[in-house]
Amino acid sequence: MDATLLTLPKIELHRHLEGSWRLETLCAIAREYCLPIPSYDPEEIRPHVQIMPDEPHTAERFLSKFRFLRQFFRSETIIKRVVRETVLDAAADGVRYMELRFTPQALNNIMRVEYDTVIEWVCEEAHSAARDAGIEVRLIVSMNRHEGASNAEAVLDAALAFRERGVVALDLAGNEDGYPAEPFRMVFRRAKREGLFVTIHAGEWAGADSVRDALELLDADRIGHGIRILEDPALVAEVARRGIPLEVCPTSNVDSGICPHLRDHPLPLLLKNGLTVTINTDDPLISGISLTDQLAQVMEHLGWAIEDVRAAQLNSAKTAFLPADARAALVQAVQG
Ligand SMILES: [Zn+2]
Repeated sequence: MDATLLTLPKIELHRHLEGSWRLETLCAIAREYCLPIPSYDPEEIRPHVQIMPDEPHTAERFLSKFRFLRQFFRSETIIKRVVRETVLDAAADGVRYMELRFTPQALNNIMRVEYDTVIEWVCEEAHSAARDAGIEVRLIVSMNRHEGASNAEAVLDAALAFRERGVVALDLAGNEDGYPAEPFRMVFRRAKREGLFVTIHAGEWAGADSVRDALELLDADRIGHGIRILEDPALVAEVARRGIPLEVCPTSNVDSGICPHLRDHPLPLLLKNGLTVTINTDDPLISGISLTDQLAQVMEHLGWAIEDVRAAQLNSAKTAFLPADARAALVQAVQG
């Protein structure tokens, strides 16, 4: 079955660059830059960047992996390396179209270069690696709720300059609990007016009200995760009727403590309620999975058949952030 899944032409709509490193690359950079960490051995670094079975599965612990990973973004060469390897790894996993999201504030955390400089590096290398790998990649610029909105306009300005070079959307991520959407309302409204799509992490670490805010205040085209929408049946009905897609990342939900085990994941309920579901990895390094692994786990623990996987892939194609003609071509490619 894994071989069938591996060769299936796949689409990834929700993957963070910052959570997509190769472990060996982290070790090589740690050694090269003499980073002040306890060991340069891969198995010693692993617990700092991956959710381990014996540690608490909480949002705080999940976000701590990103904090550790920020120290590795130290040069243009490193950023381009992680972009290239992420694209090549996706291609080797059978991903044919990927929307890769990245957080300029994370990438320039140490270097303090301009946002448009780091965005240019990512766009250039993603384009070049995608061409080499024979796949399609588009980019989503992300910002974190818990880092505040003071830099949001500047990040959006930089993102807009790359609309013709691969940036298709703006994303709000980070700690949702205690960090509402309201401060970001103006910037996301402007993104929409200026021609970007909008996707919002909501209904992950906060409840259904957060999904409602993502739709009403930020005009989201897609919802990242969104699984706690089930707490509000009226909103479920509305989102199902409007066909707003959910970018569901089941293993990530277990790793960050929303579901005790994959077999408890509300994916079957989302489908039963008529919601449009796509399946994604979120963070291949942090969760230790590829998209093929993610789909295999859903089949194993949630009883999906290969037809269900194909249906979810078709949902991804139909809701990709592409112009209508390119989206239609992607739908055709997935249908084979
Ligand atoms: Zn995410």
